[in-house]
Amino acid sequence: MYGNDNEQYKMCGYNMRLQRWYCPNCSALLEGYEDSSGRTRIKCPRCGTVMTKYRQSRQYDVLELRVPESCFN
Ligand SMILES: [Zn+2]
Repeated sequence: MYGNDNEQYKMCGYNMRLQRWYCPNCSALLEGYEDSSGRTRIKCPRCGTVMTKYRQSRQYDVLELRVPESCFN
């Protein structure tokens, strides 16, 4: 995922990168594309956690988690 950004830009020819990570809550594999503002928003199909990932700087990605209420029961 990291270190091949330039390759992916070339392949797509468009400012959209495939983002892929595992759900920190249930470890399901998630995939999604960045929107035009560089944010990727994915809802985990297994546990319902809503995640937003964005790049704050070259080496610093931020992943925000919104865990559904049902996980705390
Ligand atoms: Zn999950």
